[in-house]
Parts: sequence; C-alpha cells; structure tokens
Amino acid sequence: MNRRRFLASAIGVGGGTRLPLYSAVSRSPANLKITDVQVLVTNPMQSAAGNFVLVKVLTNQDGLYGWGDATCTGSELGVAKFLEEHLRPAMLGRNPMRLEELWQTLFFLPYYRSGSVHMSALSGIDMALWDIKGKVAGLPVYELLGGKTRDRLLTYRSVGGRNYQEVEEGVRRLMADGYKVIKVQVSAPGLESGYAVPPSARQHASTAKAFEAGVAPSEVWEPGPYVRTLPKLFEHLRKTVGEEIELLHDVHERVTPSQAIVLAKAVEPYRLFYFEDPVRPEHLDTFRTIRQQSSTPLAMGEIYTGQWDGLYLITEHLIDYVRHDLAHCGGITTGRKIAAMCEPYGILTAWHGPGNISPVTHMANAHVSLSVPNFGIQEFSVGWGEPVREVFSAMPAYSNGSITIQDRVGLGIDVNEASAKKYPYLRRLRPTIRRDDGTPWPY
Ligand SMILES: [Mg+2]
Repeated sequence: MNRRRFLASAIGVGGGTRLPLYSAVSRSPANLKITDVQVLVTNPMQSAAGNFVLVKVLTNQDGLYGWGDATCTGSELGVAKFLEEHLRPAMLGRNPMRLEELWQTLFFLPYYRSGSVHMSALSGIDMALWDIKGKVAGLPVYELLGGKTRDRLLTYRSVGGRNYQEVEEGVRRLMADGYKVIKVQVSAPGLESGYAVPPSARQHASTAKAFEAGVAPSEVWEPGPYVRTLPKLFEHLRKTVGEEIELLHDVHERVTPSQAIVLAKAVEPYRLFYFEDPVRPEHLDTFRTIRQQSSTPLAMGEIYTGQWDGLYLITEHLIDYVRHDLAHCGGITTGRKIAAMCEPYGILTAWHGPGNISPVTHMANAHVSLSVPNFGIQEFSVGWGEPVREVFSAMPAYSNGSITIQDRVGLGIDVNEASAKKYPYLRRLRPTIRRDDGTPWPY
C-alpha cells in the first residue's frame, strides 16, 4: 500500500464532507513558506458573546493552510488589528514548520509582550501552525503530541437557577442525559443577578436596551448573600440528587479573600469535583490560606495569558486543576507545556471551554486533552445552533458524559468563509458589575 492509501485508510479520510487528506507534500517541508495571514471576524450567533476572531495561515503549497482561533471576548477587534498590523508582516516568507521558533519570535516581537491581546493573537497563529503541521504529516494533531492517552474526554455542563429547586431540576435533566459531572450556579436572596444564572425578564429587557444604546449593561452584586446561600444549595442537592453525581461550582472571583476561605470550608462536606476561580487571580497568597484550611479541590487559570501566569500556584501545588484558555495563553504549544509542568505535582487539566471561544479552540482543547497524561476534565459548549455549524465543519461530539472528535488530519476543522462573512462583527460591550454602592467588582 502506498503512503497516500495507507494514510487514507489509517485515518478514515476520503468520503463525504471530510477534510481532504494532505498526504503528498509536493514541496519539501523545508521549502514551505508562509504566503499570507488572513483574519476573519465573524459572529454566527449574532449574540453578545459571539464574535469569533479566526486566523488563516496560507502557504506556498497549493491547498495547504491552517486555521486558528484568536478570539478574546472584550478585545476582539484589538486582536484582529494586532494580527494584521504587527504579526502578519513578521510571518510572511517564514517556514510554517518551524513552529516553536516562530512562536518565540512572535512572543518577543512587540517588546511590550504578553497580555490578553498579544497572547490571543499568538494563540491563533499557534493553532494554525499545528493545523498545517498535522496536514503535512497526514496525521491528527494529537498524534504529533504523543498520541491518544484516552479514547474520550470526560466533560460537564452548567446549570443555573434562580432557586434551589430550579437547579435541582436542571441537574436531574443533565443526569438523564448522561452527565457525570455538573456545574451548579444559583441566585442569592435579594440579588437579581448572579454568575451563570438566567437573567430575570427585567434584566433581559435592560440588557437589550443597553446594547441598543451602545453602552455596557450593568448588574448589582453583593457577595454576602451569595456566601450565605451557596453551601445551602449543595446541602439541598446532596439530599435530593444523591452522592454519586459529581458537582462543581464557579465563584468567578466574586468574593473577597476571606469570603473565599469561608466558602471553601463550608462546601467541604459536599465533596465538590472542584471549586473554580475562588478569588481574583492576582491574590496568589490567598490560595495558600485556602489550602491550609480546606480540602476542597481548587481550579484556576482561565484568564491567565501565558505559561508563567499561575506558575506559582502549580509549583507550590496550591491548585488541583489548571484551567488556562488555549485561545489566550499561547495555544497548543503553551497548553502542552503547562500540562507537563503540572504532571509531577499531580495537577490535572481542565482547559477553559465556554461558548464564546470558537469551535477551532474546542478542537485544539480536545487534541491536547486526548494526549496529555494528566487530563482531568474538558469544558465544552454543546449549545451552538445551525449558523455555527454552517461556518465550522466540525466540533467535538457529546455522548453519555464525554466528548470525542473524529480522526482527521491537522486540527480536523475547516471554516466556510462565505458563510462566516454573512455574520459580521457585532459590538456588544460586556456588563459592568458593581457593588450596591457603585464600586466596580470582578465580573
Ligand atoms: Mg471560571
């Protein structure tokens, strides 16, 4: 069997809408050159958190290109301009196969380096270069990362309710759908809003009005009622849905350091899968205090923008799950390095995977999660509708508590550019969160 037929049979390529197999590189990989870097901003959901910033890296080999995701909600056009104006010129004519060397070059290029705009742009480039490398090799990216360590990825889904009963009903629905791990969020008495809680009708109308006026919606948040309510939610759920289902919760940085300690201790009897974003990421020392007083597993990392952010939490073993976002931290290259740093400490991966990063990142998440030895869980958005599926050729598939991807070359995902152009950028300012007296507070 020749190489082309071998690869086609090995990875099941060749039929239907599958990506074409790139099995015959007519140019030597050493002679490949980047000929263009194109940026595409699209919002197929036409929603507040739906602007995707996509990067296409093209080469001098006909049909050989890679897709990456540089989406950074809240700075979308900043990232797009940074890519076009500052990174693209430095990439033209360079060999896309020299991935690490290009990564390092683009990291040092602006001098005032790092931060969410620079690192999201670099993340998108990194994914596109891995996509190209996989296509040149004729292999899925996970094969280049060491191959599969598992066949499927444990995943979870979120339930938000305005009271304990609403959350309980949502948990029961997801359990019936096969979920083994469920994130639970609830409103507190006296508060109209809450993180990942469905908005009231008044909030919904107020947010729509703010978007119409081109201003940021605002929400009032007080951490006290929330701190008093959350342990009671877990008490209710353990009594009603039992001990077997794994439950986790995201504080989303909305409490003070001392309140985070109180909460981590208070929820300890309910055996959380993990307790996420307990304080602002800048409050590193608080993690040590929480650790000393509670055995509740801790997860952190989604707004870190590089492998050095959060390094202290890893090397001091102050967390149990690392949650960097591969669209913001430097892509697949950084993700695999972070996973390797975590492995000797027994810290597991739980890459950030919300619906406001594109399916390209979700595929990148899956390739890294399938290959690293210290995988924990993979967040995944299952709620995308038809327009997203029209723009993107693939995304992970959910079944019985896990997600899987199909074995295709590269990242295994293509973008329908004509469809993407039908859904333009939409300006939607993120909400401002304030204490009752007007003090700005973390979202
Ligand atoms: Mg979080």
